Amino acid sequence: MARKLTSAQQAKRDAKRERRAEARTEPEAAPRALTFGEVIRNRNLVWSTSKATRTLIRDTEAYTREAAKVSLQVVSCFDCNATKACCSVVVGAYFHEVVPIVDRLRKEGRDTPELRAELAAAADEMETRSPDEYRRPCALLDAQERCTVYDQRPAECGTTFVSSPAMQCSDPDASVQKYLPPYRARSQEAERVFESEARLIPLRGPYVGALPRMVLLCLEAWDRSDYAQFLAEQIPIVAQRAIAAVARRT
Ligand code: SF4
Ligand code: SF4
Repeated sequence: MARKLTSAQQAKRDAKRERRAEARTEPEAAPRALTFGEVIRNRNLVWSTSKATRTLIRDTEAYTREAAKVSLQVVSCFDCNATKACCSVVVGAYFHEVVPIVDRLRKEGRDTPELRAELAAAADEMETRSPDEYRRPCALLDAQERCTVYDQRPAECGTTFVSSPAMQCSDPDASVQKYLPPYRARSQEAERVFESEARLIPLRGPYVGALPRMVLLCLEAWDRSDYAQFLAEQIPIVAQRAIAAVARRT
């Protein structure tokens, strides 16, 4: 036979039931939106973007070595001791290519106001001058003319090889003979995959622009949970500026 509850016990039980019912009807807190850096980490995108670019560079180098043998030409870049003129010119990059660079800069504590200011100044100049006039050492080049992100360098840096003498690269009036590898379309394909994996907003064109601008935007986006909207607003503007600058080439 059920024990009869005292009025105090009954009140306690009713209050408990009420609390349970309230807990059931309270809306669940919306999950916090992930930052760009969290999406990158959760989806292992530093590894996959780095692999795509490294493979492209490796294949291009192999192709260039073979092409040089066939044409009996020297690839000057393989033993270049000249001033690194190729690190003071206009360089473009897809957005996925700068993800491993930014990951490294952050891990090495190099995301400083000074670096951001230098990237912004270089990007402004790269986007407004003709490539014929642009000569500014890359913000990622050190005083000894070594690339400080060599293992993460973008495809344009890793797949540009010349057969003319290295000294000619720093002479604006000299002609430079470049090998034109057939692989660069792969960067565009890797970019499409990345944009989907990183949950970026699809745009009419790819996420691409001047290298310093892409690095800067990636640094700025890293800790933002509204990164997709932020990048979708910024990229079309800077991509257009970069295209307009290249069109000024005489
Ligand atoms: S592009 Fe010219 S300056 Fe750059 S590594 Fe090759 S030879 Fe040297
Ligand atoms: S990223 Fe490295 S290789 Fe490319 S331009 Fe800058 S310093 Fe040179």
